[in-house]
Amino acid sequence: MEQQLTETTMAQMLGGQRMTKQRRLVFDVVKELSPTHPTASAVYELAKKRMPSISLATVYNVLETLTDAEIITQVNIDREASRFCPNLHPHAHFFCDKCDSVFDVDLHKHANAAEPWNLPDGSRIEQMNVAMRGICPTCREADDCND
Ligand SMILES: [Zn+2]
Ligand SMILES: [Zn+2]
Repeated sequence: MEQQLTETTMAQMLGGQRMTKQRRLVFDVVKELSPTHPTASAVYELAKKRMPSISLATVYNVLETLTDAEIITQVNIDREASRFCPNLHPHAHFFCDKCDSVFDVDLHKHANAAEPWNLPDGSRIEQMNVAMRGICPTCREADDCND
């Protein structure tokens, strides 16, 4: 279920600020690299190839603006560099301890993200960051082969 954001929606989310060329580029790069959940430097590497004049500082700024506007989300794993995710529907992140990959884990169809938690009555979730660590299927398979 891909969420398509139009220019208009993004401008609205940016509080009426323009979706500048740099913002558009950074967003497109985050989207393109989304299966890996890129760090700011990974975003910069690819963005620079398309717009050689863009600086790392600009990339950081744009990532912050897009995060504040909730167009993308920031994913933090322990002390590692923050990564960015353009997937806006509720999902968790799975971190593989072996290959350092990060992937999205979707909820089961019709599942309610708030349901498994024993929330105090009357509370309302506004944001949820769920992270799991473990070994991904590819790494597990490689492990089994070595045994
Ligand atoms: Zn994600
Ligand atoms: Zn792995």
